[in-house]
Amino acid sequence: MLELSGVSHVYSNGVRALDNVTLSIPKGMFGLLGPNGAGKSTLMRTVATLQTPTSGGITFGGIDILQDPEALRKRLGYLPQDFGVYPRVSAYDMLDHMAVLKGIGSKGARKDTVETLLNQVNLWDMRKKAIAGFSGGMRQRFGIAQALIGNPDLIIVDEPTAGLDPEERNRFLNLLAEIGENVVVILSTHIVEDVADLCPRMAVIVEGAIQLEGAPLDLIQKSQGTIWAKEIERGELEAYRKMYEVISTRLFAGRTIVHILSDTDPGDGFSSVDGGLEDVYFSTLASSRRVDPAAIAAA
Ligand code: ADP
Ligand code: MG
Repeated sequence: MLELSGVSHVYSNGVRALDNVTLSIPKGMFGLLGPNGAGKSTLMRTVATLQTPTSGGITFGGIDILQDPEALRKRLGYLPQDFGVYPRVSAYDMLDHMAVLKGIGSKGARKDTVETLLNQVNLWDMRKKAIAGFSGGMRQRFGIAQALIGNPDLIIVDEPTAGLDPEERNRFLNLLAEIGENVVVILSTHIVEDVADLCPRMAVIVEGAIQLEGAPLDLIQKSQGTIWAKEIERGELEAYRKMYEVISTRLFAGRTIVHILSDTDPGDGFSSVDGGLEDVYFSTLASSRRVDPAAIAAA
């Protein structure tokens, strides 16, 4: 179990990237969903002990990670958002080298580790090829292999599916799902489907603050009766934005479908729809933005 309590981070330029984040993250896949600039990478780097928060506490399985970052690092696997290690050396040699750095000294143990991981991430056939020539999906699978060296029980992957094509993305998420059963895996993403497809628990972060947390299915259930849809003309959209809390618009076969948030039946030709996680996410974004001016005024 990973526990964050009241974690805030203010960069030297004054940006408050994390604002009093309190989260309990159990074993399994945990999705951290938020738009660009929400603070996801800051949170990931902080938990990975690469930066120290301005305030707050973090523990993992009883370790106070701010007091004892070394103890955490021994149990951590981390795939950063900007994993820029694409050298001209082969996947096998690179993994072997990284295993040395992770402290696996014996040659035999290293051979076992490297071979097992290459098989696990389905790169065995590519093991002699230079990583520099890998596709995006292969690089991310290599990234997971290096994160898994030493059997970590806390795995952090920061926006791993960005830029992958649908097939690569699927393959990558399936791989994560297999790993994620017995350890804590935190997956950050701005893609709703990443979370909907494989995370039993999730949180939405906006402007450094956790706006929503829970099981995707529960969160979807709670949104029932609050999401309404209507097909409108494109030109009407601005007027609808003024009248209603528009959470998303979608083009479907050349027509515009608008989803709005309303606790009561808005009438006006809207019909109730069973919202999905996307509606939950967009309504969270809409309401946290709506609250913003008041919050700023109160500060
Ligand atoms: P995300 O990963 O969700 O896109 P980040 O954690 O990268 O969000 O960034 C959160 C906020 O902190 C953004 O406003 C970003 O510009 C700012 N930020 C990130 N890193 C730094 C840094 N090293 N110095 C100053 N501001 C930063
Ligand atoms: Mg990021």
